[in-house]
Amino acid sequence: MTRRQLTLGAIGLLIAAWGFLPEFTVTMLNYIGLYALVTLGLVLLTGVGGMTSFGQAAFVGLGSYATAWFCTAPEAAAWIGVIPESELLPWIGLLAGLVLSTAVAWFLGSVTLRLSGHYLPLGTIAWGLSLYFLFGNLEFLGGHTGIAGLPPLSVGGFTLRSMHQLGIMIWSILLLTLWALHNLLDSREGRAIRSLKTGRVMAESMGVDTARYRIKVFVLAALLACVSGWMYAHLQRFVNPTPFNIGIGIEYLFMAVVGGAGYLWGAVLGAALITLMKQYLQDILPSLLGATGNFEVIVFGLLMLIVLQRFPDGLWPKLAAMVGRWLDRAPEVTGQVSEAALAARALPEVGSVVLGANGISKRFGGLLANNQVSLDVRAGEIHALIGPNGAGKSTFFNVISGVDDPSAGVVTLLGRSMTGRSSRAFAAAGLGRTFQHVRLLASRSVLDNVGLGAHLRGHRGWIAAMLRMDRFEEAALISEARRQIERCGLGSHVQDMAGSLALGQQRIVEIARALASQPSVLLLDEPAAGLPYQEKQALAALLTQLRDEGLAILVVEHDMEFVMNIADRVTVLEFGQVIAHGSPTQVQTDPVVLAAYLGGDTVEMAA
Ligand code: ADP
Ligand code: MG
Repeated sequence: MTRRQLTLGAIGLLIAAWGFLPEFTVTMLNYIGLYALVTLGLVLLTGVGGMTSFGQAAFVGLGSYATAWFCTAPEAAAWIGVIPESELLPWIGLLAGLVLSTAVAWFLGSVTLRLSGHYLPLGTIAWGLSLYFLFGNLEFLGGHTGIAGLPPLSVGGFTLRSMHQLGIMIWSILLLTLWALHNLLDSREGRAIRSLKTGRVMAESMGVDTARYRIKVFVLAALLACVSGWMYAHLQRFVNPTPFNIGIGIEYLFMAVVGGAGYLWGAVLGAALITLMKQYLQDILPSLLGATGNFEVIVFGLLMLIVLQRFPDGLWPKLAAMVGRWLDRAPEVTGQVSEAALAARALPEVGSVVLGANGISKRFGGLLANNQVSLDVRAGEIHALIGPNGAGKSTFFNVISGVDDPSAGVVTLLGRSMTGRSSRAFAAAGLGRTFQHVRLLASRSVLDNVGLGAHLRGHRGWIAAMLRMDRFEEAALISEARRQIERCGLGSHVQDMAGSLALGQQRIVEIARALASQPSVLLLDEPAAGLPYQEKQALAALLTQLRDEGLAILVVEHDMEFVMNIADRVTVLEFGQVIAHGSPTQVQTDPVVLAAYLGGDTVEMAA
């Protein structure tokens, strides 16, 4: 049995048993479903996207109040021109809630998401608190008493009155959302979303607009909370501010963390565990302690501490591993692959200047890390940039790849001025790069990491990914990533976690990732560092082959033998300045260079 079969089997069982489940069980299941929907958004936001929100309960409130007002206020019905008590009203309320949530989340996101650190969590707390008090103080929303008399939901003339009926809707929406989010994460867009947590600088260099993705994830999480609030309102048939306070917002976060913030099914597990536990504790504790009071809150807090201490990644991964032992691996799906699905780029003519740097200076406070550095990289050539530690090579790399802006000077890419442009623009213009300090998503597969490099070669968006309408393009992206991995000699590690590879191999993964973007120019910062001798040879062969194919390559490297063997031209940097430039032989015999190296920290040069 595969995971998929198990999931479908469980769903089938739930459907078959639904009509026979007692009212109380169904009620519990309905609440679990509603909470899980909110928690799913949080998993995406927190566990996957690395953004913490305490304010999800406020979005639930927005969804509840929007529909409550539209369904009960006479002026609302008159305003939109439908008869009061029309079956359409809840749906108009849903639409209003979704529009409101989008607007608020977009605004909140654009204000807080650009700031780093604690601003987002603090912003969501502020938002959660203010909305809660707003609900309680607005006359037309019924103040602290709230709004009563909500109608039941109707779908296609069928009214969902009982818990059993409403539950069908709740669980259908939850399962569909799970399916859609699973698809989303398993796509080009998903790879970009997964990079938000730990790899934003890297992702920008792959062409991902991380600020935009962060806002979109935030909005999506808000929309899920809103839909949950909408169904919640029609399940309760009344709303008041209490379920939307900041304490509940924290509880949603608990559900995500206890279940497993990085896992979609963790949301369902977390919501189930916490809902059942609270219910159980409320029932059992008073008789156990022989006194009444809110003891469950205390016990609940203690239990949370223990769970978080024992299972920092949540319970889902443990459960999945336990069950996983009895399951078969799903057969690998090999879709129809056509490279035509991917954007392709013609390489510039051999010998033409691809990347030009003119008079680049970079100042860090009082330190001039680059002083008037000029060099160019031509198609079909390997240009090496060498120099002692601290000479300013990595600084230069960051400037000519858009990660950092120069203090002075001009960078051109294929003849276009790129000064002041973002690293995303550099990637779009055909620049691929690796980082001196490896920047991979350590807990994702090599294939996923390299796939991210091909980000700009696909174009299917979130909706297409959720509905699995991107499969044609996705198959092409994955096959391209696989091709680059094999070409770089890591074919046996395609499915391994990137973080489990040796450091030298991780550098090679970075090269494969850069190649997947089909660059015109490749910047490599110390690619051979940490590689054993034989793998260095293989890397040298790969770079020479890429050069012969017409790629422009700029490489920073410490290993002189490696550099001198492959480079067509060498530029030597010392104290941020170019001190020599020429063929490997010219540079190796240059007295200025010899002096710099013999006086510096490297003696290899003399050998
Ligand atoms: P290399 O890569 O050649 O070893 P770097 O470019 O990393 O050298 O560093 C050049 C100099 O600039 C070093 O003295 C380093 O300490 C300094 N430097 C690099 N990045 C920064 C930064 N972000 N802020 C301040 N100083 C920096
Ligand atoms: Mg460096």
